[in-house]
Amino acid sequence: MIARKIAVKGIVQGVGFRPFVYTQAIQNKLTGWVRNTSAGVEIEIHGDDTGINGFIRALQNTPPPLSVVDHVQIDEIPFVKYPGFEIKSSKTEDGSFIPISPDMVTCADCQKELFSPDNRRFRYPFINCTNCGPRFTIIKDIPYDRPKTTMSTFPLCKECNEEYENPLDRRFHAQPVACQQCGPTLELLINGESIAAADDAVLTARKMLAEGKIVAIKGLGGYQIACDAMNQASLQTLRSRKHRSDKPFALMAFNTDIIQKYVQTNDAELHVLSSSQNPIVILNRLANFTFPDEVAPSQNTYGFMLPTSPLHLLLLEPAPEMPEVLVMTSGNMSDEPIAYQDEDAFQRLSKITDAILTHNRPIHTRTDDSVQRIFNEKPYLIRRSRGYAPNPIRLQDELPPILATGAELKNTFCLLKDKYAFLSHHIGDMENYETLLSFEQGIKHFENIFRAQPESIAADLHPDYMATRYAVARTSQESLPLIQIQHHHAHLASVMADNHLPLNHEPIFGLIFDGTGLGTDRTIWGGEMLLGNAAGYQRLFHLQEMPLPGGDAGIKKPSRIALAYLWQNQLEWLEDLPVVQSLCADDKTMLNSMLQNQINTPLTSSMGRLFDAVAALIGIRAEVTYEGQAAIELENCMDHADSGVYDIPLDGTQIVLKPLFEQIIGDIYNNIPVSKISARFHRGIAELCLSAAEKVHAQYGSKLIGLSGGVWQNMSLLNLTYSKLTSAGFSCLVHQQVPTNDGGLSLGQSMAAAAFIKGIR
Ligand code: ZN
Ligand code: ZN
Ligand code: FE
Repeated sequence: MIARKIAVKGIVQGVGFRPFVYTQAIQNKLTGWVRNTSAGVEIEIHGDDTGINGFIRALQNTPPPLSVVDHVQIDEIPFVKYPGFEIKSSKTEDGSFIPISPDMVTCADCQKELFSPDNRRFRYPFINCTNCGPRFTIIKDIPYDRPKTTMSTFPLCKECNEEYENPLDRRFHAQPVACQQCGPTLELLINGESIAAADDAVLTARKMLAEGKIVAIKGLGGYQIACDAMNQASLQTLRSRKHRSDKPFALMAFNTDIIQKYVQTNDAELHVLSSSQNPIVILNRLANFTFPDEVAPSQNTYGFMLPTSPLHLLLLEPAPEMPEVLVMTSGNMSDEPIAYQDEDAFQRLSKITDAILTHNRPIHTRTDDSVQRIFNEKPYLIRRSRGYAPNPIRLQDELPPILATGAELKNTFCLLKDKYAFLSHHIGDMENYETLLSFEQGIKHFENIFRAQPESIAADLHPDYMATRYAVARTSQESLPLIQIQHHHAHLASVMADNHLPLNHEPIFGLIFDGTGLGTDRTIWGGEMLLGNAAGYQRLFHLQEMPLPGGDAGIKKPSRIALAYLWQNQLEWLEDLPVVQSLCADDKTMLNSMLQNQINTPLTSSMGRLFDAVAALIGIRAEVTYEGQAAIELENCMDHADSGVYDIPLDGTQIVLKPLFEQIIGDIYNNIPVSKISARFHRGIAELCLSAAEKVHAQYGSKLIGLSGGVWQNMSLLNLTYSKLTSAGFSCLVHQQVPTNDGGLSLGQSMAAAAFIKGIR
């Protein structure tokens, strides 16, 4: 007879790990115990050779599907005679921590029970088990036990308690477990008055949606707003009440069969749609179908997701009178953060919606819906939030505790501990007080639940970013080192860490294309070709600097950017160019004097602005209502069959743009359609990337290339560049666990700061 003590680390709590251990111990005729600790799971097993080996094999090969095992430590201990196998109560250890599971979509077993009339949770909108349901959004503290979640105010009824206590039950220690008798309840509110409760609330909400009404719904991570995706009048009302003119709405359907009626899908996309993370997946439209324009104006794609929670399933359950597809957009007014606290939601959303479907299970942490695309059959994240956060990025090196505060737009923060980078949920655009507040609360919450006290803080170079100001204030208060990282260097470090490269990896060639980031020379960078790693970089090539009229505020007016770029290259503002016609005489006079006298026209090498300028120049869009709109429309009109390429030459460290503008203007005068001009421009940028890569290879020998920055959300550009580089023998790293936009920036900041602290060069 022998015995082993086993310590397991990773996501092993709230995912059915102890029931799994219990079952394996019984099957292998072992005695001993298992318990949760604040560091993971501890196991003692006593029995014969075959039993012990069988147990360890199962632990390593078939752990519960939602668990993520990072480390298993097995030690020999003396054999003791135990009466049986026991699940002991949890133990807290000072300073230790475990990763916390993200929220998970309703599992197949719970779905079946939800729609089984003989099940005691038939049509109960909060059904869940150890394999599914809310996690991160309801956790207030660790270890993950019911009293430390927002379920603490719902005492279990006798039947739920039996399931909760039974190691062989699917609901053993499922902290959010509940039923009609003991759990949260639904309510439908109109003007603050409750008009229906429980199942009636769902049925009434469905009826309202079918009639074209707009209904707010309390989802897992916050409130959403729903309406019939086919009802043009409802869509128009929603757009005007929400003050959201063009940004696409997300859609939700009951199952993938329905989704496939409306968009193209491949296996990888279906897989992500049906995953337990449940993101919105951006999918190409079918040629023969469109929703009313108001769903996603001027896009070639629709963003679809499957029902997240049992409540969503009940709302979308197919019926002849019910719309098959609902808009499911964020519960907010245009750029505000989404509402997640009830009082706030009632106040803000009653102006936008006709009714509010709410319940009394509080959301502790707001998490937006995540957004994904598929690139090369792999996930390519646009927004990493619900379903992913707070899952850590696993690192190659064990690193000191560092907090990185992230960017101004699409903010996330990142906290390092051991070999984990805990990247936060999507915080959002740091331009209003509520967002800043949730940023500060989020940081506090992460430091607490992961037991990490930062010893230094990393931030962007930009002194006016709210995140930088927070870092400056906090480091001076707590006497901590402040490490400021150049924006595009952080992007480079981010794509390297995202691809599991260690901190001291040899320099790679980074094609860092994005909107804006402050450069070390105080100009606005954004079309950057860097050679470097987490420890440092050289700025090898960059877009020729152009004046940006109006600075950051000027980003909303691509037509003015286009004219400024022409002016800088001594190209005339010819009256028959579409972009020149889009501005009135006064505008042009004012713009001209701003440029002549260098008034509020900071210089920029931004790639995002170049895309905006080209879109405006050929008359696609003169003004934008959301970031990236002009560039998206430029991409969408592209004629993929055209094989023309504009020449964009390198001169020294500069990427010279005058020839590009001359070629485009020439094509405009030759009546070449915008679809072909767009294609030639995209191909020109891809070709530029290849010629730069070849130069760098000849001079420095580097064949490894990293792509990062928001411009790489342009899938046509990404496809063209990636295939050009790889077919020329280069290896290309793209993002896979964190977004290529500023949502992934804090990961890179933390890596660069760690390299600095560790003295890596
Ligand atoms: Zn379940
Ligand atoms: Zn119950
Ligand atoms: Fe950026």
